[in-house]
Amino acid sequence: MGQIKTIGVIGAGQMGSGIAHVAAVNGYKVLLHDVSADRIVKGIEAIRGNMIRQVGKGHMVQADMDAALANISAANELQAIGTTDLAIEAATEDEDVKKAIFKALAPHLSDKTLLASNTSSISITRLASTTDRPERFIGLHFMNPVPIMRLVEIIRGIATDAHTYELAVNFAKSLGKTTANAEDFPAFIVNRILIPMINEAIYTLYEGVGTVDAIDTAMKLGANHPMGPLELADFVGLDVVLSVMNVLYDGLSDSKYRPCPLLVKYVEAGWLGRKSGRGFYDYRGEKPVPTR
Ligand code: NAD
Repeated sequence: MGQIKTIGVIGAGQMGSGIAHVAAVNGYKVLLHDVSADRIVKGIEAIRGNMIRQVGKGHMVQADMDAALANISAANELQAIGTTDLAIEAATEDEDVKKAIFKALAPHLSDKTLLASNTSSISITRLASTTDRPERFIGLHFMNPVPIMRLVEIIRGIATDAHTYELAVNFAKSLGKTTANAEDFPAFIVNRILIPMINEAIYTLYEGVGTVDAIDTAMKLGANHPMGPLELADFVGLDVVLSVMNVLYDGLSDSKYRPCPLLVKYVEAGWLGRKSGRGFYDYRGEKPVPTR
């Protein structure tokens, strides 16, 4: 697998822990970092829980689970990530947060470290410009849930060099993923198409065209989507959906990307979907119940 042997993951939320999971299963040593030790512990617990489910379903054997978990270590200090061969940032979808992480990491980076962001929508060129190595910076956009979804979108910034691209593609392939190249425009390919569809479903709810149940049933049975758009919004996280819409709206200056006011209201209420227990569905009971 060439020069990449150790992976640093910054952000131990749903995506960061998913990336750590697949990297560890495929034999990479992983350092997992987040803002607090507690969040790292929660991330590693989530990985363990997902692996236990995989073992239960016969998709993984216990010995491989033990070996994978032994490949993951907590990195309480961001600077430890600077020693890895590939550092993947998977923190909150906020440009200022991501830029601050790359700036803080810069003095601790070894010469060899490649940098990647798992951003859903933010310009790779802009993020890369905050580092000392824009030529060795790339977008590696994993899909949620990472252990299951087969795609990694690869986004080259304006300065990304051919060697970095080659290493990134090989890394994604070594995880059993298929890659698709996207140009560095707001939200790339998957979210340029998917997130406005979700936003339109929220408008459909907001305007009273259908209930949560009717909208999700209609799209599952009428368009053959495995999940309804509102269920999917809760799964992705409503804060992430709103951030991507704002990036599309600001980046393309086109009113067709305006975020639905109902989406804004849910995020302001802290109803972020599954991760906060409530969104378009309420997850606090035995089974999800529509909130409208
Ligand atoms: P999340 O809210 O589950 O996790 C984000 C994590 O980042 C949190 O644990 C938070 O504590 C941490 N964090 C925030 N600031 C930090 C900092 N300064 N240093 C270290 N850690 C910090 O979010 P997520 O869904 O995992 O999304 C993470 C990234 O992945 C975002 O860029 C998002 O756009 C992208 N992404 C999300 C999805 C999805 O479906 N949710 C899919 C693909 C890509």
